[in-house]
Amino acid sequence: MARKIQRCSFCGRLDSEVRLLITGESGAICDDCLRQANEVLQEHDSLLSGSSAKHSRKLSGDLSMKELPRPTDIKAYLDQYVIGQDDAKRYLSVAVYNHYKRLLQPTSDDGVEIEKSNIVMVGPTGTGKTLLARTIAKLLKVPFTIVDATVFTEAGYVGEDVESILTRLLQVADYNLELTQRGIVFIDEIDKIARKSDNPSITRDVSGEGVQQGLLKLLEGTIVNVPPKGGRKHPDQDFVHVDTHNILFICGGAFDGIERKIAQRLNTHVVGYNAIENVAHIDRNDLMRYIQPQDLKAFGLIPEIIGRLPVLTHLDQLDRAALRNILTEPKNSLIRQQQKLFAMDGVELTFDDDALEYMVDKAVEFKLGARGLRSIVEAIMITPQYEIPSSKVKEFRVTREFAREQLEKSTVGQLG
Ligand code: ADP
Repeated sequence: MARKIQRCSFCGRLDSEVRLLITGESGAICDDCLRQANEVLQEHDSLLSGSSAKHSRKLSGDLSMKELPRPTDIKAYLDQYVIGQDDAKRYLSVAVYNHYKRLLQPTSDDGVEIEKSNIVMVGPTGTGKTLLARTIAKLLKVPFTIVDATVFTEAGYVGEDVESILTRLLQVADYNLELTQRGIVFIDEIDKIARKSDNPSITRDVSGEGVQQGLLKLLEGTIVNVPPKGGRKHPDQDFVHVDTHNILFICGGAFDGIERKIAQRLNTHVVGYNAIENVAHIDRNDLMRYIQPQDLKAFGLIPEIIGRLPVLTHLDQLDRAALRNILTEPKNSLIRQQQKLFAMDGVELTFDDDALEYMVDKAVEFKLGARGLRSIVEAIMITPQYEIPSSKVKEFRVTREFAREQLEKSTVGQLG
């Protein structure tokens, strides 16, 4: 009797086309499909148990109290990259330190449980909120992700569900559940999901209050069903159950116009008790310094959200001196980056002091802040970046005159 021709029930290849075919009662599987199935199985197991050890050593770094960077160390590290913003740096350093402590807290009988302290950073755009978050992420041994609050909408509407935050964190943690559950999330532009007025809305507010309600659960700590590959929730999908109790949330937002709310509140106080003393101490030009949780409420965050963001700190508008420092001081400052680019062509690049001053003047004049500095530097350096690599030049000095000429003929220069 002729031998029955066998083929893999998964890929359909004949036994003559594969190295090994394992046959069963009513089917067969080839070595390739078996290997693939094994990978799927491993991924699935690690998702459910959070036991994938691949990244855990790198990220969790076997935390121990002895090795933890102290708040002063964290701040010193931030100082290398971010100019000024001392208040925000201190708050952030302490919050991150406490986050580690929370993760390490012994389960004792004293009944004291360190609660998490999510943070909200308020400050004008381009003053370093994201930069702070990114910089701190480099130092951390826990998974970290940055998400933008503007992409979220209430479940069922076009846009992303808030749960997608956790999908990203899962991805960063290489699908290790245990690590994901101790990660840090930076939610940018939190002010954009404020409701439009201080009063609860009667009509549905898809992008504002609904999203805040969705975030609430995540911030306070709950078990969330997360679709591991992202996208909308789907009944047939396998969910990962992520516990957010130990995930630290840092929120940032410009809260444009919040100074008015602060001023209003301060004025109301002035009428009240202790009026004279209050007035004496208020610096009208730096109202942000007096920010309080109730100002966030006046801006349109719901009280429940504010309650879950107990640490409130602010960033200052960058003044001329700060902008000048940003050009040269940070470890990866714009000027250092340019010098590195030129050095790779064997060219020594220098900038005259008054050329740097000129760049700062223009950033101030165009009201572009720190973000504008980058466009200005790029606009000035485009021609030398284009020409020098194919020339014999070994040294290049940027003078004020050169900077002015280059900027004026660029599109950035036309902004003035
Ligand atoms: P935002 O506050 O809007 O999140 P970013 O952190 O994105 O602002 O800042 C934009 C860019 O401006 C940064 O990438 C960085 O180059 C520069 N910058 C802003 N603030 C600072 C700062 N305090 N120190 C150094 N660079 C800064």
